[in-house]
Amino acid sequence: MSEKRDFYEILGVAREASDDEIRKAYRQSALKHHPDRNQGNPEAEAKFKEATEAYTVLSDAEKRAAYDRFGHAGLGGAGFDFNNAGVGDILSHFQDMFSDFFGGAGGFNGGGGRRRRQPDRGQDVRVELTLTLAQALTGGKHEVSIHGAVSCETCHGSGAKAGTKPETCNQCRGTGQVTAQRGFIMFSSPCARCRGTGQTIAIPCDACRGQGAVEKQRKVLVNVPAGIDTEQRLRVPGQGMPGPGNAPSGDLYVDIEVEPDSHFERHGNDLGTRLTLSFAEAALGMSTKIIVPDGREVTVKVDAGCQPGSIVVVKGEGAPRLDRGGRGDLHVMVAVQVPKKLSKNAKRLLQELESELKGEGEAASAS
Ligand SMILES: [Zn+2]
Ligand SMILES: [Zn+2]
Repeated sequence: MSEKRDFYEILGVAREASDDEIRKAYRQSALKHHPDRNQGNPEAEAKFKEATEAYTVLSDAEKRAAYDRFGHAGLGGAGFDFNNAGVGDILSHFQDMFSDFFGGAGGFNGGGGRRRRQPDRGQDVRVELTLTLAQALTGGKHEVSIHGAVSCETCHGSGAKAGTKPETCNQCRGTGQVTAQRGFIMFSSPCARCRGTGQTIAIPCDACRGQGAVEKQRKVLVNVPAGIDTEQRLRVPGQGMPGPGNAPSGDLYVDIEVEPDSHFERHGNDLGTRLTLSFAEAALGMSTKIIVPDGREVTVKVDAGCQPGSIVVVKGEGAPRLDRGGRGDLHVMVAVQVPKKLSKNAKRLLQELESELKGEGEAASAS
């Protein structure tokens, strides 16, 4: 950035100028350099921006006092960012001020008072993507299908028949805007002949009938991060609808739906499943391997004396965390199966076990 010019100098007023003098000076400069009267003139545009910035400071008693004491540094970074704003941004940001200034409904812009601006990018598109739990935990590339307008291949989006080119609109000379003068103010509105595009097509392309775009089904590969969950949304920049003219495309939003799994439940980053043990396994304790949906083999250790319905937590073996890495936990709910049919021998052994356990119970409570 080059050195900023002095605000008083920009408006051509003395440092002790009154509010009224500042206002008059700005009005004069704004009228002269207004973009509606100086189309395609970057020098006027820069002057308009400069004067508007100076005015927004000097017309505000507090900002003016800060500027008088400390210069540009006194203003800090707060407020509207003139350095990076286009003239269109300025016109819409200070719309009220301009309409105040130049009177009428919307001052320079005529008509409804709101400056017409072409959308600066294509529309966003939303699609749903249904994944199994295994796919959600593993992540990877998944294809989604989008129905919508794509740039016409025959005419490369120009809308003109092969061998011809769109021509500069002779009504607006390619600017897309027509201006009319009322008093000393120029009003501009979109050109009716070219509908604001600045170009006309003499012989339209057959494939798209001059629209430059055709309806089509297209596929987009979406990168799904491992650990995605239902109701989360992925954004794929630039894969929405093509923008008007040369404007960038919109974005694609992919809403994730994870199908329920018959063996595993998911609660956030934790996974839950059931493990059925025999009475002996629950009593003696055991170790087994469980295959989780993304294919990992997880060892689950059940302590001796495990009660039915209790939950064994295996730390760090759940779903991958999207936000901070690592994984949630695996919760294993233990069920104990009671045999329905017993052989004679089994019956005898269980009875023996029963009296043994009772005896031990009595011995334990007696001590
Ligand atoms: Zn075409
Ligand atoms: Zn035109």
